[in-house]
Amino acid sequence: MLQYKIKDLELTYTWTIARESSNVKHNVFVQVTQDGVTGIGEAAPNIRYNETAESTIEVIEKAKSLIEKTDLWNFVDLGYAVRKIGEEQTAAKCALDIAIMDWMTKSLGVPLYKYFGLNKTKTPVTSYSIGIDSIEMIKKKINEAEEYPTLKIKLGLGNDEEIMNAVREVTDKVVRVDANEGWKDKHEALEKTNWLEKMGVEFVEQPMPADMIDETRWLRDRANIPIIADEAVKSAADIPKLATAYDGINIKLMKSAGIQEAMRMIWMARSLGMKIMLGCMVESSCAIAAGAHISPLVDYADLDGNLLLANDPFKSVGVEKGRMVLSDKPGLGLEGEF
Ligand code: MG
Repeated sequence: MLQYKIKDLELTYTWTIARESSNVKHNVFVQVTQDGVTGIGEAAPNIRYNETAESTIEVIEKAKSLIEKTDLWNFVDLGYAVRKIGEEQTAAKCALDIAIMDWMTKSLGVPLYKYFGLNKTKTPVTSYSIGIDSIEMIKKKINEAEEYPTLKIKLGLGNDEEIMNAVREVTDKVVRVDANEGWKDKHEALEKTNWLEKMGVEFVEQPMPADMIDETRWLRDRANIPIIADEAVKSAADIPKLATAYDGINIKLMKSAGIQEAMRMIWMARSLGMKIMLGCMVESSCAIAAGAHISPLVDYADLDGNLLLANDPFKSVGVEKGRMVLSDKPGLGLEGEF
């Protein structure tokens, strides 16, 4: 049986990045049941990828009969079949994949990280994201994020200097910058990147639009800090063409269509010598747990979507001094009602 529902996730603060602003996210949750075991998954539809709660539900509806008639132990073939359904809509497919992987590992009676043979003491510290806001609010948010040793600052709306100067007035923590495709010119991007290096920034994520691969290669050849691809990469097939333009990739389950493709991306990026970051959209503890369970394999984590919510419907991963602590309950280890 496959069921789904929309839950309205309220943000503690209005969430603003270079392309959008929101107070509430309409994420879609799915529950699969087979042989008396249930698995839960989540879709965080993103307008950058032409996704809404409605378009997500359309794909879930299209996949429903296939999933209900398939033995979920054939989850690899089933995963490939789901990827071929209709439009791209990777958030919808991600929800289905997470639910099936939760079901599978619950059926085995092991936490997801153990299924993949991973060491739970190797989970990385997650950065805590500070969205674009007034200077006063940015300082307030940074002070409230006291327990997180690493911050991710969103830039790219034209007041980058003002924001970064304010950040450095209140903290000397490790800072990562995400421009969300906000810089439209390679010379501007290089100037900003060199300046951010002087401000002690660890790396820059998606400085220019995803399709500006040649310009990004030009930037990377001249910059001294790593350049990480986010909007430029969704699945493993995207990675080889980016290997000479970026130092690393930001994998998000919502882009990869779930855990199975994220694992293929990790092996692909590693084989090309690239750094790996595991990121997220605004997601509840359901999808965050799915990412956290494979995070021992990556260099950087930005799995803080649940920390930005005022009404997270689930609990799973803990955070201690910024480092993620995985549950030892079977599957994703979720507590909470579907
Ligand atoms: Mg990003």
